[in-house]
Amino acid sequence: MIIVSACLLGFKCRYDGESRPDEDLLSSVSKKLFVPVCPEQLGGLPTPRAPSEIIAGDGFDVLDGRSRIIDATDRDVTDFFLRGANEVMRIVELLEISTAIMKEKSPSCGVCHIKRNDSIIRGSGVTSALLTKSSVRVISSDRITDKLETGNY
Ligand code: SF4
Repeated sequence: MIIVSACLLGFKCRYDGESRPDEDLLSSVSKKLFVPVCPEQLGGLPTPRAPSEIIAGDGFDVLDGRSRIIDATDRDVTDFFLRGANEVMRIVELLEISTAIMKEKSPSCGVCHIKRNDSIIRGSGVTSALLTKSSVRVISSDRITDKLETGNY
């Protein structure tokens, strides 16, 4: 069983009310058991919602209290992101999940990259950081095709 960022499976949970379906992932849904999760919705944020950014560092810094997450209206939404990350961990623990496929560049789900000030920078989102700290294997959505082709996920 694998948790997957829900927007990759076609759920319209993104900040703009849209999804980012990954066709390779969708075509393999019937062969693996995927559990869709959207940390931002699980944390209590509405859809659609204002886009948010980690203002310094990355998700690991947010988890350690060294950074915050601010949305486009200047609202501090850090607590929603932390709650969502912890709710995802509850699912992981309940279902004994050891692998996650997460949407790159998101302040929640980004694995290797996040967005800040219209730039792509290295770093993890909050939920992917918590999953990584909890020894869950976190795979970037940008690597899905490689992993699906080799069966190595
Ligand atoms: S929080 Fe994750 S699952 Fe939800 S819309 Fe953003 S990238 Fe997709």
